[in-house]
Amino acid sequence: MPTDPADLLRQRGYRVTGQRLTVLRAVSGEPHMTADAVAETVRAEMGSISIQAVYDVLGVLVDVGLIRRIQPAGSPARFEARVSDNHHHVICRSCGRVADVDCAVGSAPCLTAVDDMGYEIDEAEVIYWGRCPECRSQARG
Ligand SMILES: [Zn+2]
Ligand SMILES: [Zn+2]
Repeated sequence: MPTDPADLLRQRGYRVTGQRLTVLRAVSGEPHMTADAVAETVRAEMGSISIQAVYDVLGVLVDVGLIRRIQPAGSPARFEARVSDNHHHVICRSCGRVADVDCAVGSAPCLTAVDDMGYEIDEAEVIYWGRCPECRSQARG
């Protein structure tokens, strides 16, 4: 499996474009970005790009497996370049801040469902909801 993003894109039949690489770099630079935030970062680097174009590129990168989409209930999708370690997320109910939570000890035990109902399971999407330290201290103050 090639680790060079350009190789991966080519292997899946996608052209390697400056836009795709710039979006990938933006997502790698700051985890859990929304598409809007990605668009802002990309614009700062390469000038105008429509939000639709950003969504298209993000879709390609997710498809190729270079980035991962997190879709928390009731909030916009987030994107991150930390893929394939099946880590989880903790999300603040107040400010929406997202943090990574490593999968519980060992190699992704959550993938071993108590009863897999005959499915071949390859991902366990776990989101912990709560309130982040900053929101907690604000509530106290
Ligand atoms: Zn918060
Ligand atoms: Zn993450």
